[in-house]
Amino acid sequence: MSSTMNTVGRPTAPNPVDHDYKHPTLTGGRGLLQDEKLIFELDGWDKTGVDLPEPSADGSDLGDLARAAPIGLPGLSEPEAMRHYVRLSQKNHAIDLALYPLGSCTMKHNPRLNEKMARIPGFSDIHPLQPQSTVQGALELMDQLAHWLKTLTGMPAVALSPKAGAHGELCGLMAIRAAHQAKGEHTQRRKVLVPTSAHGTNPATAAFVGYQVVEVAQTDDGRVDVADLAAKLGPDVAAIMVTNPNTCGLFERDILEISRLTHEAGAYFYCDGANFNAIVGRVRPGDLGVDAMHINLHKTFSTPHGGGGPGAGPVVLSEALAPFAPAPWVVDDGKGFKLVEFEEGEADQAFGRLCAFHGQMGMYVRALSYMMSHGSDGLRQVAEDAVLNANYIKARLSDVMSAAFPDGPCMHEALFDDEWLKGTEVTTLDFAKAMIDEGFHPMTMYFPLVVHGAMLIEPTETESKQELDRFIEALRALAGAAKAGDVERFKGAPFHAPLRRLDETRAARAPRLRWTVPEGSNRAAE
Ligand SMILES: *Cc1c(COP(=O)(O)O)cnc(C)c1O
Repeated sequence: MSSTMNTVGRPTAPNPVDHDYKHPTLTGGRGLLQDEKLIFELDGWDKTGVDLPEPSADGSDLGDLARAAPIGLPGLSEPEAMRHYVRLSQKNHAIDLALYPLGSCTMKHNPRLNEKMARIPGFSDIHPLQPQSTVQGALELMDQLAHWLKTLTGMPAVALSPKAGAHGELCGLMAIRAAHQAKGEHTQRRKVLVPTSAHGTNPATAAFVGYQVVEVAQTDDGRVDVADLAAKLGPDVAAIMVTNPNTCGLFERDILEISRLTHEAGAYFYCDGANFNAIVGRVRPGDLGVDAMHINLHKTFSTPHGGGGPGAGPVVLSEALAPFAPAPWVVDDGKGFKLVEFEEGEADQAFGRLCAFHGQMGMYVRALSYMMSHGSDGLRQVAEDAVLNANYIKARLSDVMSAAFPDGPCMHEALFDDEWLKGTEVTTLDFAKAMIDEGFHPMTMYFPLVVHGAMLIEPTETESKQELDRFIEALRALAGAAKAGDVERFKGAPFHAPLRRLDETRAARAPRLRWTVPEGSNRAAE
């Protein structure tokens, strides 16, 4: 494939090293991976793939709304359409294809049982405006999911509606703001303390809710600097946001002291629970003094994610914050299940709503299927195996790569820095790109920001030893090549991917989200 094509999403800049295949293919395909154009670029404009009767002349009630021109799609037949999308799908990495070692993302296998359950028509074909008497089963499922989440976290309340981790953070901080408001302290408590290693959504959420973000330092061993935290806590602080296990893959050893200091200062403890996979069934955040914590169902409880959604980020709340939970929630009033939807009666302190309806039903079904099929002992083993797998990787790579925090075990993810690449001319990015050539999706790069050239590897519990060994051997071989001075292999990588190095900055800053008719084409577009 030429590197100067200028269609949507394709690179316009030449590849950094222009030594491509010795024998570029004639079709643009690579092995059995077909090259594929955008659907708008496919032939088939003068045909149709389906055989429909001619519409009657007076058949439309659309009036002015009826399209005057074709919609700009080729008339593909069923096999052509099928192949188009399958070819495109093969350009994506998928958890069903191989290990997806993205640290902080918990990309684990999604059991097919979850999908089967989510497709039961009683769950998949309902509408949020249906009378509640007709969706009792769905409400019961939400009630059960809430029960599991409260039990696993040791927290008395949960708001199910947030649709992602970041949305859950927003929910938690809004509940915290409402609680300070109820005490008349909201005008004085303007700050939220966030450690330097935090996920970007933490400071972004605090700023979005109107708080001033104050950074808390980190110790040399990758934990919250408790002395710095204590110095910054005071009557002007509304909350702290701490991730546990943190984004360096380490358990916050001083978590009890952190929550004690926070409460002593009259602030609330928001825990980012995105890494709950590492401790589920082993530790109850409620016992650690947490006031609010989001749970990414799409991480810990295996519902699919990636590509921007769908997610679900329920937030568990402490006794102190429970009254401010957003509507709606499910109650069982003895006669059946119902949604508490209005800010009156038992919900008169609710801070409002986060979304129009009750959240992501399909995710609830998948998450509860996952929980029930594992059972409480199975969920505990999830955490244990996730931690074991990450430590296996850390132990087997630490002699060729530099662990960011070499002392002691990690939790569910192994963090390396780029110290070991010093003097090789190879960067973290180059190394990651070379992994693609070996058939592996790269780990999370350059996050957390506190570690130079970070490489964050999260295997999850669903990888076998065999698969981990394959991954480890590939990384060991690559590390050897980098140290042996085989710079070419890295600088130009990936050589074998359908697309090579994209101009990612330009893709983010100037995305072309719409296909336009190329100059000189006689093709009708939208
Ligand atoms: C994934 C993640 C989030 C955000 O969750 P989304 O569902 O992507 O919004 C927040 N914090 C941490 C530590 C995460 O890993």
